[in-house]
Amino acid sequence: MGVLDTFSLAGRVSVVTGANRGIGRALVVALAEAGSDVVLLVRDVANCAAVLAELEPLGVRTAVVTADVTDAREVQAAVDAAIAQLGRVDVLVNNAGACIHRPALEVTEDEWRTVMDVNVNGVWNCAQSFGRVMVAQGHGSIVNIGSMSANIVNRPQWQPAYNASKAAVHHLTRSLAAEWAPAGVRVNALAPGYIKTEMSPVDAPEFRRYWIEDAPMQRFGLPVELGPSVVFLASQASSFMTGEVMVVDGGYSLF
Ligand code: NDP
Repeated sequence: MGVLDTFSLAGRVSVVTGANRGIGRALVVALAEAGSDVVLLVRDVANCAAVLAELEPLGVRTAVVTADVTDAREVQAAVDAAIAQLGRVDVLVNNAGACIHRPALEVTEDEWRTVMDVNVNGVWNCAQSFGRVMVAQGHGSIVNIGSMSANIVNRPQWQPAYNASKAAVHHLTRSLAAEWAPAGVRVNALAPGYIKTEMSPVDAPEFRRYWIEDAPMQRFGLPVELGPSVVFLASQASSFMTGEVMVVDGGYSLF
C-alpha cells in the first residue's frame, strides 16, 4: 500500500457529532473527500441542508441521525439508526461542544453543568455507545475534538468550565486508548487553537491583541485546515498511534 493510500477511507463509515456547522461541517466533508460514507449526528435534521448539499457531489453515502449528545439513550438510538442506514461504523469524531465565557465567580450552576455535560458527558456517551460496536467488531478509530484550552488558560476571556472539560476529554482519550488498544480500537484527540466559527469570535477587536497578535503565526485557523488532521487520525495513516493528543494551533501554545 502506497503512503497516500493509507489515508483513504473508502469503504468506511464515519460518524461526526455536531456535523451541521463550524468545525464539524468541515470535518465531515474532509472524511467524505477521503472516500468515507458519512453519518451526521445532529440535534436538528433541519439544520443539515447546507452540509448535505456540499457532500452531494462527493458521491458518498450519507445519513443523518439525531441525538442530543448529553442524553445516553438518544445516543444509543443514534448508533442503532446509523448502523441500520449505512450498515457499519468504523470512525467516530466526537466534535459537538459548547463554550461559555465567564469569570469563575460569576459562572452559574447551569452554565457549569451545560459545558461539562456537552463536552465531557457527550463525548463519554458517544465513545461508550459507538465504542461498544467497535470493540465487538475488533476495529475502529475514535477522534475526540479536544482543545489547546486543555493545556493553556485562554485570555483575556475566562472560561474555567470549558478549560477543565477539554482537559477531561484529553485524559479520557488516553484512558480509552489504553483500554481498547487490545481490541483494535484506536482513540486519539485533536486539539485545535483559535478557529473561526460561531464558537470563536476571532474577528472581535477586543480579542485581537491576545488571540492573533500573541500567536506565532499571527492569524486564526479555518475549519478546513483541521480536515487533513482528522483524516490522518481516522485512517490507517496513523495505524501505530493511539492515546495521542495532536495540537493544531498555529503555534499558539508555544508561548
Ligand atoms: P460551534 O459552536 O460552531 O458548533 C458546535 C456544534 O456542536 C454544533 O453543531 C452544535 O449543534 C453541536 N452541539 C452542541 N451541543 C450539542 C448537543 N448537546 N448535542 C449535539 N450537538 C451539540 O463550535 P465549533 O465548530 O467551533 O467547535 C466544534 C468543536 O471544536 C467543539 O468541541 C469545540 O470545543 C472544539 N474547538 C473549537 C475551537 C474554535 O476555536 N472554534 C478551538 C478548539 C476546540 P447545533 O447546531 O444543534 O447547536
